[in-house]
Amino acid sequence: MISEEEARTRISKNITPLPERKISLSSALDCFAAQDYFAQLPLPAFDNSAMDGYAVVASSCRKGERLRVIGEQPAGLDRKLRVGHGEAVRIFTGAPVPQGADAIVMQEDVTRNGTDISVNADVEAGEFIRRRGCDLAEGQMILGKGERIREATAGLLASQGFANVIVGGEATAAVISTGDELVKPGEELQAGHIYDSNSVLLNALLQHCGASVRAVEHCRDDSESLGAAIKRGTKNHVLIITGGVSVGEHDLVKEVLRELGANIEIWRVAIKPGKPFVFGNAGECFVFGLPGNPVSAFVTFLQFVRPAILRMMGATSLDLRQVPTKLAVDLTNDGDRPHYIRGRLEDGKFMPVGRQESHALFGLSQANALLRVAVGQSLNADEIVGVQIWD
Ligand code: AMP
Ligand code: MG
Repeated sequence: MISEEEARTRISKNITPLPERKISLSSALDCFAAQDYFAQLPLPAFDNSAMDGYAVVASSCRKGERLRVIGEQPAGLDRKLRVGHGEAVRIFTGAPVPQGADAIVMQEDVTRNGTDISVNADVEAGEFIRRRGCDLAEGQMILGKGERIREATAGLLASQGFANVIVGGEATAAVISTGDELVKPGEELQAGHIYDSNSVLLNALLQHCGASVRAVEHCRDDSESLGAAIKRGTKNHVLIITGGVSVGEHDLVKEVLRELGANIEIWRVAIKPGKPFVFGNAGECFVFGLPGNPVSAFVTFLQFVRPAILRMMGATSLDLRQVPTKLAVDLTNDGDRPHYIRGRLEDGKFMPVGRQESHALFGLSQANALLRVAVGQSLNADEIVGVQIWD
């Protein structure tokens, strides 16, 4: 049995980022930038109006003043108008500010009489003008290599005229659930059978971290069909097998992997839940064997599979986000492995939730955070601890 740290080191030593690719910006959401991106344009790109109203010279525009409207500047092509003292240009939100104007009076603050307006409010220089470059300067970094492209980042890249982006490779994945007791949801359940929940759980986790899931299949506990399923699965960058990695006679995964010539780099990690975790490779494909108990599969996925997939896809930040939180109860780990407690983080407090056992899927479904309690560690209620979140 090796430590989590050793497992992480061995996994990251084996895994290298996939080749980068150029894709359209509209399909780049949640991908990782493969290079730094810099602003090609300032934002705003030119001085423009923040309101529908009138562009004026503030010093000639005291409350009660009458001004002559000499033209109109809608958003769009710059009409190159010029405003002087005693004049105004009708203007709309986003339109370029005419030369000479240094303020916009909003239309709610004027009364229009034919070609004139009277101003009903005091106007200060600079009012309602969005200055060129006040949000973003040309040349400023807008996205760093390895950062995730989020909704607003995609919008920002578009605002800079990028139609395509260079991002990290897409990791393809397959999932195999093993066990004679498993039945697909939607099918009839016989005595002693259970529904296969890990296939759905792992598919969701894979998608959530950006992998492309190409196949999800169930396999009985027999070497021949397992071997065939593994051969199919290893056509992907990542293969996840759940169940059958422990020490029972029906736990065939390691044996079948070895028969197929796979290299097993890790078996058994000091982690609770999730000890029988397997990591290796079959040719180019990285194989993760996760325990069948749903909570163990979930925890080992987050601790070991997620960072590996993120690294393959070019991410630089691989760890789950840690949030400082007040602990709601006392907690002690008397066991021989670090324990990941499932809990609920709410209003700045972390409270363990449900049965802390590896089969307890309902408890897990109520949790939104994990707290790692090291071997021999005792934590007190109201202590500030760092909890991991995954959403
Ligand atoms: P195993 O790791 O194959 O020894 O399985 C450990 C426990 O997890 C057993 O109680 C299995 O019935 C359960 N289990 C295994 N695979 C799944 C699955 N895909 N969905 C739900 N439970 C499972
Ligand atoms: Mg099994």
